[in-house]
Amino acid sequence: MGHETLAVLRSVFGYRSFRPFQEEIVDRVARGGDTFVLMPTGGGKSLCYQIPSLVRPGVGIVVSPLISLMKDQVDALRENGVAAACYNSTLGERESRQVLGRLHGGELDLLYVAPERLMTDAFLERLREVPLALFAIDEAHCVSQWGHDFRPEYVELGRLRGLFPTVPMIALTATADVQTRGDIVARLGLRGAEIYVTGFDRPNIRYSVLEKQKPFRQLEEFLATRPREAGIVYCLSRKRVEEVAEKLRVAGVEAAAYHAGLADAERSRVQDAFLRDDIRVVVATVAFGMGIDKPNVRFVVHYDLPKNIESYYQETGRAGRDGLPAEALLLFGYGDIPVSRSLIESGGNPEQVRIELHKLNAMVGFAEALVCRRRALLGYFGERLEEPCGNCDLCLDPPETFDATEEARKALSCVYRVGQRFGVGHVIDVLRGSRSERILALGHDRLSTYGIGASLAAEAWGSIIRQLIHRGYLEQDLANYSVLKLTPAARPLLRGEENLVLAKPRLRMAAPKKEKAP
Ligand code: ADP
Ligand code: ZN
Repeated sequence: MGHETLAVLRSVFGYRSFRPFQEEIVDRVARGGDTFVLMPTGGGKSLCYQIPSLVRPGVGIVVSPLISLMKDQVDALRENGVAAACYNSTLGERESRQVLGRLHGGELDLLYVAPERLMTDAFLERLREVPLALFAIDEAHCVSQWGHDFRPEYVELGRLRGLFPTVPMIALTATADVQTRGDIVARLGLRGAEIYVTGFDRPNIRYSVLEKQKPFRQLEEFLATRPREAGIVYCLSRKRVEEVAEKLRVAGVEAAAYHAGLADAERSRVQDAFLRDDIRVVVATVAFGMGIDKPNVRFVVHYDLPKNIESYYQETGRAGRDGLPAEALLLFGYGDIPVSRSLIESGGNPEQVRIELHKLNAMVGFAEALVCRRRALLGYFGERLEEPCGNCDLCLDPPETFDATEEARKALSCVYRVGQRFGVGHVIDVLRGSRSERILALGHDRLSTYGIGASLAAEAWGSIIRQLIHRGYLEQDLANYSVLKLTPAARPLLRGEENLVLAKPRLRMAAPKKEKAP
């Protein structure tokens, strides 16, 4: 099989070799196995079903929600001499008949179909009459409510497995966390599917996180060390975008604001000026970046906490497209968490809210990581990094840690004493001996843990409790006012059988290490 697929790669597509895992995936699908592929955009997913469609008898049916992309793909395939066509609502009646004729005549290698077209009884009936090489479900995350682009017409695709039990199926997407992945596999009925996650690493991007304290000053310091480079600063709100852009201009940086509230003309002006290197820094909401292909973006700064790791990955991924060293800096403040949280809670149905809160927690987890940031990032997508990367803040400058056993015990017992019925703020108030009305009304000033943490600032306790959550000693009941509860892992710590080491907050980036003379 390997020979044949490599021959097709070279003769039809004109490439010399497969990218990592493409060959395994192609071979597996060509042999008829169900397969799940998670690869970033531009990673090379198309070949994973195109080549098997060519080497297997019958036509490969490709499901894609984006009609415009379908046409591009089909045109490119035809250029390479592949018999490909699409079948969707843009075709006239005559063209449609022609495509169906070629399908029945066994002339097609690949047929791209929109999901709602595919799942009509009439079309399914036709498919029963022709040999099928495979089903490829592109943008497979659309089938899952856990994914961020749920499409009801995709759910129907779940019937394919039952209707065509012997036809292999390959699901592909660029974005799916562990839950979404499981959901896709279940909904499509993939059998014993091998899951491939690959290609997410962007080795030239250096990831760093600073604890956000005086964010504008931290940003200025960062910019001062790279006075000529172009980059993007992401903020969560339009107001903050305007504010930061203005302050940068006052400080003498060529900066411009970009968000969806600006007039179209202004947005294109900023975009063009940035592409032409007339503007050095674009301060933007997440609205900026879609379809921007500027290879020499040298840095991306997150001024506020992104709402999930998917967004963070996508936004930082706009740096260093040219493959040269680039920087991704996140300013992470604990105060941002409740803001994001209430934004999430104010919209969407309860299920959606639960999912998004879960994703936010994962984002916080990334920001709080203590060993190799890249490993944490790739791990989120399910890709394993064998060695620490050597190109993130944690690898280059391991965080200072301190023995937090005593503090952790105080915090955990306090959670226990308040009956595991209160959130972070209240627990901190009790620890620090607050005389608030609420504390007094509840009689919490009489608890044995009242005031035992008065020597530490509220922020320090916040950081410790967050880390305890992140490390699994505490959990937050998101469905119930974020109430803190002990997990079984807390026991050994409380009983004094275990010690705990935590990181000290980091406020500025390590000075760049001097290159050693050769
Ligand atoms: P995706 O669907 O994952 O976004 P594509 O399949 O469109 O990515 O591939 C992205 C680009 O990479 C395309 O230009 C494609 O031709 C190229 N490509 C894919 N596989 C290889 C390979 N093995 N060798 C060279 N180029 C490749
Ligand atoms: Zn690392």
